[in-house]
Amino acid sequence: MNGLDVLKKYFGFDDFRGKQAEIISRIVSERKHSLVLMPTGGGKSLCYQVPALMFDGGTIVISPLIALMQDQVDTLKRKNIPADFINSTVKPEQRKKRLESFLSGKTKMLYVTPERFRKPEFVKKIKEANISLLAVDEAHCISEWGHDFRPDYSRIAEFRELIGNPLTIALTATATPEVQSDIISKLGLIPDSIKIFHEGIQRPNLRLEAVDVYDEPEILKEIKRIVSTYKGSGIIYFSLIKSLEKYSQLLNDNGIHHSIYHGKLEAKARKAIQRKFLSGNEDLILATNAFGMGIDKPDIRFVIHAEVPSSIESYYQEIGRAGRDGKDSVCLLLYNQNDLYTQMEFIKWSNPDADYYSRVYDILKSEMDAVYSFGADYIREKMSHRDRNDFRVETVLAMLDRYGATEGSLEKNTLKIVAPLPHQLSDDQSLKNKLLSDNKKLLSVVNYFKTIECRRIYISHYFGFPNEKECQNCDVCD
Ligand code: ADP
Repeated sequence: MNGLDVLKKYFGFDDFRGKQAEIISRIVSERKHSLVLMPTGGGKSLCYQVPALMFDGGTIVISPLIALMQDQVDTLKRKNIPADFINSTVKPEQRKKRLESFLSGKTKMLYVTPERFRKPEFVKKIKEANISLLAVDEAHCISEWGHDFRPDYSRIAEFRELIGNPLTIALTATATPEVQSDIISKLGLIPDSIKIFHEGIQRPNLRLEAVDVYDEPEILKEIKRIVSTYKGSGIIYFSLIKSLEKYSQLLNDNGIHHSIYHGKLEAKARKAIQRKFLSGNEDLILATNAFGMGIDKPDIRFVIHAEVPSSIESYYQEIGRAGRDGKDSVCLLLYNQNDLYTQMEFIKWSNPDADYYSRVYDILKSEMDAVYSFGADYIREKMSHRDRNDFRVETVLAMLDRYGATEGSLEKNTLKIVAPLPHQLSDDQSLKNKLLSDNKKLLSVVNYFKTIECRRIYISHYFGFPNEKECQNCDVCD
């Protein structure tokens, strides 16, 4: 079967879109590596799923999110495509079975998180597999300059070697030129051996607007304007749960029906709200950035950012959820100078220095019993925090876990140190560079607001696409 036959037979589509055909041909016929930069909703998955069904050997898909993985595999299974996933939510027996099925060639596509490669039993088995293709989804997670760095992603060259350096395709919607070259080097490839496909930022149906706002009434006025003009589904993003709740009250007072979604709600409630939104039983969601991964709803008519986001990468990813059906939709950024202070605080607490890392690490090492008894507050006390917003302890705990220096969780009293403090968290210079890079990202959002050129051109340049034309669909072009 050729690619088009596979597309028709398994996916029920008649034609490839954009650069899909070209990418698939490079993978299948030329057997050469590719880096695919395509906007969210552009159709990245087919670029590896179609080849996976054409190759004799199996395809490993590295994907960062357990929740997303399940959805993707469920969708494939409904199409009778032999795909499966292995992650920490799968029981050991099932994991073994699924791995066996992949080794025997029955399962063609196996989705795993990069953390899976920490497990000796997985590594031992996977080395025996006949692998035709490695697909690295959300490849920007490879780069510490990306907005969603995952340390285990940065070890992908090691994993590739383990499985015999197979043909590789990496895919992402958001990678600046700096991140693109980082992806290539972290894959263990030389630039000449990999072709970069960019599809630009496209999405001409998304109208980009940014408005200066000073106070509550102004923000409310803008929200009302959008809600009444763009009838249909929409998301309003907030950085802080506190402001989300305030505006939820204000919208209630104004008779604007909505639901709220943020990380502090229980998992069950979050799921229910997401389902209500996806099924069309709720039009408006007020959310923090916890909402959105895997939201593949075609008819979202607007995405409003009521507070300044932390980077162009996350902004672009969040607005990418609008207008997937190709119909007119609007993406409005409400810019309030004061939000910058909030974001700068965020950045500060997300970037403890080397001394801080080492002190928290030492407390964990020598006083774990006290930490079990009194929780993170014990560490905070020891570190003498004065600011109640200071969440550096949480940052350290999360980073130690990400880098594999600790395992288990504090809530369950199972936290334990399993490795020395990684050098990335003890080198002051690289921590300083990271802080600087985060601040630069925030500055890019300010510049996006202030730009006097077309907003689409601004975003395109940011992601390294030089040839974007004026969009005639943003407030600056107006
Ligand atoms: P991405 O991963 O780039 O965000 P997906 O791979 O999830 O995007 O694809 C987005 C949507 O577009 C999916 O619903 C998918 O089925 C659809 N799609 C992708 N390629 C095609 C195609 N060639 N023809 C029709 N629909 C497509």
